[in-house]
Amino acid sequence: MKIKFYGTAAAEGVPALYCTCPTCEHARRSGGKEVRTRSQALINDDLLIDFPADTYLHVLQGGLPLHHIRHILITHAHPDHLYPADISMRGPGFSNLEDSETLRIYGSSGVWKELMKNDTIPVLMARNIIKFTEVHAFNTFTAGEYRVTPLKADHGTENPYIYLIEKEGKSLLYAHDTGYFPEETMEFLKQWNKTVDLASFDCCYSLKHCEKGHMGFDEVRTMAEQLKEIGALDENSVCCINHFSHNNGLSYEEMNKYAKKYGYLTTYDGMETEF
Ligand SMILES: [Zn+2]
Ligand SMILES: [Zn+2]
Ligand SMILES: [Zn+2]
Repeated sequence: MKIKFYGTAAAEGVPALYCTCPTCEHARRSGGKEVRTRSQALINDDLLIDFPADTYLHVLQGGLPLHHIRHILITHAHPDHLYPADISMRGPGFSNLEDSETLRIYGSSGVWKELMKNDTIPVLMARNIIKFTEVHAFNTFTAGEYRVTPLKADHGTENPYIYLIEKEGKSLLYAHDTGYFPEETMEFLKQWNKTVDLASFDCCYSLKHCEKGHMGFDEVRTMAEQLKEIGALDENSVCCINHFSHNNGLSYEEMNKYAKKYGYLTTYDGMETEF
């Protein structure tokens, strides 16, 4: 399995749109890994996670093959993870589709409500151009060739999820946006009785502290220790940190220097890793 991180920032991006803080000014000057767009990742070449407004930028500059993708998991309804206006561009008059295959979107009731605020999406659903499946915490479903289990996240929207994704004996835990995992999620992962090959953790606060809604690096380490105790992670699991905010005052280089000491991969836009 492989994952490509197209966007690795929190809601406002790095540099944040209007911000003049030193981290944002540094990102504007330096470019490269210091610039972070909104959250999105692709598993292999065919399972997309989240659909922010920066999806179009990821298509243009990152090579995201959106026209070939048929399955999208949405973690939650915040706009940096879900931008319905551009999902609706799959409609007639905006897209000439090569085939009639439906684009399948999976998410919670909160995601459904957000999609329904868009005028066009219900029309596209009626024509099977888009199909939305409401998925429920701890109920495993199939998306293409993947077994996917939504797990409860601790985050301020209606029914936010983190996703456990499995295919051909490999597994991935995509764990943001969330604070410390809710007890039921830990219980599920304990009963699951397997070890994830890669975990991507919410590290919005970098070296600052946060236990609820998001996490910082110390909280990620605590979370990872707890996951090791229940057998869901081991020393062979690849641990990534992701979803960074400019407000923590750290550049990619600074965060990476620190994270490397503990064996964590600091994600950046365009980073791809096989596991
Ligand atoms: Zn977010
Ligand atoms: Zn800033
Ligand atoms: Zn969020």
